[in-house]
Amino acid sequence: MAYKTINPYTNELIKEFPNATDAQIEEALTTTHGLYRTWKKENVADRAQKLHDVAQTFRDNSEELAKVLVTEMGKLINEARGEVELCAMIADYFADNSAAMLSPVPLKTTAGNARIEKESVGVLMMVEPWNFPYYQIMRVYAPNYMVGNPMILKHSSNTPWAGAIFQEMIEKAGAPKGSLINLFLTHDQVDKVIADSRIQGVALTGSERGGSSVAQTAGKYLKKSSMELGGNDAFIVLEDANIDEVITVANRARTYNAGQVCTSSKRFIVADKLYDEFLERLADNYKKFVPGDPMDEKTTLAPLSSAKAKQTLQKQLDDALAAGAKLYFGNTPIDLPGQFFQPSIITDVTPDNPAYYEEMFGPVAQVYRASSEQEAIDIANDSHYGLGGIVFAGDSKHGEEVAQQIDTGMVFVNTFLYTLPEIPFGGVKRSGYGREMSSLGLNAFVNDKLIVSVEKPNLDNLGGALF
Ligand code: NAP
Repeated sequence: MAYKTINPYTNELIKEFPNATDAQIEEALTTTHGLYRTWKKENVADRAQKLHDVAQTFRDNSEELAKVLVTEMGKLINEARGEVELCAMIADYFADNSAAMLSPVPLKTTAGNARIEKESVGVLMMVEPWNFPYYQIMRVYAPNYMVGNPMILKHSSNTPWAGAIFQEMIEKAGAPKGSLINLFLTHDQVDKVIADSRIQGVALTGSERGGSSVAQTAGKYLKKSSMELGGNDAFIVLEDANIDEVITVANRARTYNAGQVCTSSKRFIVADKLYDEFLERLADNYKKFVPGDPMDEKTTLAPLSSAKAKQTLQKQLDDALAAGAKLYFGNTPIDLPGQFFQPSIITDVTPDNPAYYEEMFGPVAQVYRASSEQEAIDIANDSHYGLGGIVFAGDSKHGEEVAQQIDTGMVFVNTFLYTLPEIPFGGVKRSGYGREMSSLGLNAFVNDKLIVSVEKPNLDNLGGALF
């Protein structure tokens, strides 16, 4: 069986989940499509209360939900609790704001009374990754629940329990059957579901490789898709930045969620003047991490999500060093049975090094020296990815000017890169296309339908171009 819960702290196999059968897939398509038809006759606003109930159910069951994340992918318990609360915030936000954001848009035209109505499109296929097992689902679920697009979920093969309990929670909250159905699908089954005429959109968060494959299938069957893929985000430190603030933010920006975040700062590009101090102080912080049981609130370093994640990262680091990068700190094994990886720092990564363009999905910081602001911008933009980024500057206005020159979907100045339901999330280049969250995410899968009406046609003067 492909879907397994393996605790990365103990390496114990906790649960296995059988793949979906053809009958389960057909039933899910029928149920979700039936709900789409029912929802079409409803007012958007009437759905809001149930989504608030979903938020409340997440809060009421926070401890149980958080423990699943700790067990299944090793997240620190406090970070897991934070993820559950973020899900509740997202549900509340879309419950409160969707009706207004989806209200018809009147058009000024000589054609008559014209407006764009925002209608649902149909059932969506949602494919999600393991690094934020609930949050990634909720980013798609809450807005599309309000729009009226039911969803079929394929979760990561190493976080099946999270997918199953997400569905359990929304059903417990009273959401209608079929608003989201979690299925343990193989990759081929995902393709078959996308091909089905009842599916009208595909939302994937994951790697460039997974995204490319699923986007090809979506393209083949002409299904609209949104792709939230990997990143190799830059963290630029200008020479007048406040180094104390920089270090505090930089420390967390690479190590939160054990460094397994699409928008982790993976490349620190530091002005010459601050470069040595930055390295020294970042390493001092990395020395303080305490590996241990992620259920224990005193633990500050969680294991990586799986044995495979650790092997992949170790190989990337070994290859980077073999290709000439210098190890500044770390890369010593942690003497615990779990999938721990010591936070590490490398320098002197040149463009011919494989690490220069690759996403390293774990706590390895690459640090680059920049002799000018322009050089820092050039290094930041020399990437196949374009997801997020951080700029630290003495003057935030100047930081914004630098932010405008970074080719990514999101840049934060003088602060952490964080996520909230009211601000959009997404990237450009190989980080994908489309946005989740905010009004942009809400409108990702809507039919912007034009309606034009007049009391009577003016048969004498039908005006300009006609079709
Ligand atoms: P992944 O290997 O691409 O998997 C993501 C999801 O896609 C999983 O459910 C996976 O299922 C599925 N999948 C992969 N290939 C598929 C295919 N050919 N057909 C159907 N489904 C397929 O990515 P990951 O390693 O789990 O996640 C980490 C990546 O996600 C990183 O690159 C990270 O940067 C990115 N990410 C991006 C964002 C964002 O918002 N931009 C947010 C979080 C993470 P299986 O597990 O069964 O293979």
